[in-house]
Amino acid sequence: MRTPLRTLLNTPDIELWPAWLLRARASGDARTLARATHVLRRKRDGGYLAAVLPEGLMPLQPRLSREPGLDDALDLLDDPPRAHSRAGTLPLHRLAERLDALGLEAGAYADDCGLPLVPEPAQLALAGFDRYRRPLWLRADAARAWTRMHLAAAREGVALDAISGYRSHDYQLGIFERKRARGLALAEILKVNAAPGFSEHHSGDALDIGAPGEPPAEESFEQTAAFAWLQRHAAGFGFAMSYPRGNPHGIVYEPWHWRYRRPAAEA
Ligand SMILES: [Zn+2]
Repeated sequence: MRTPLRTLLNTPDIELWPAWLLRARASGDARTLARATHVLRRKRDGGYLAAVLPEGLMPLQPRLSREPGLDDALDLLDDPPRAHSRAGTLPLHRLAERLDALGLEAGAYADDCGLPLVPEPAQLALAGFDRYRRPLWLRADAARAWTRMHLAAAREGVALDAISGYRSHDYQLGIFERKRARGLALAEILKVNAAPGFSEHHSGDALDIGAPGEPPAEESFEQTAAFAWLQRHAAGFGFAMSYPRGNPHGIVYEPWHWRYRRPAAEA
């Protein structure tokens, strides 16, 4: 039996997912997915575009050939990177026009919040599954560090839940588009969500951590045993809280949001 693929290959418009991580959405897809190595997914809405089968590519959408970014994804399939060899990031140029379409001026926003634009990694590693049983994607070294930290906490009787790890620019754009469609003003959305391109979650180094039974992303997380454990031990695994109280970005206190940098001992 082959080892299941644990790497997500990233391109600006399309992600190449290990097929075993996906559930069929249309009748007839289940048998195709069971035979596929990868599935090409549109980042904008997660739609399944095509399955990669031993005999070749099987379209899962009509008009596949017109899909934006398809050539980039197929190039990657023809010349798959070795594990961990593509530590690089994707270009940011597509983001500017999408922010324009939202009515958001990236330069002014960056000046206001003092946050940098965050490129997406070219590949991500499976770091287990989150609280909602979704695959948790992080950059390879962050994934290893999270796995070790999660285990170390469990050995001391402390359960850490992953709530959310890597999120693409398109995913964040989708949140904005849905809220705009419901009539929310851009300024209102920006009070709660970082602008697409500016979230640390795009880096693959950040994740939101919760404690079982606790609601996600609430300040009350700071009263849990999980948070107390993280405060004592997370730095030793290379994780730091990004937005402590009184952070210079004016971002609300987020005791649940941690970012991998590198272990304190190696700093
Ligand atoms: Zn977060």
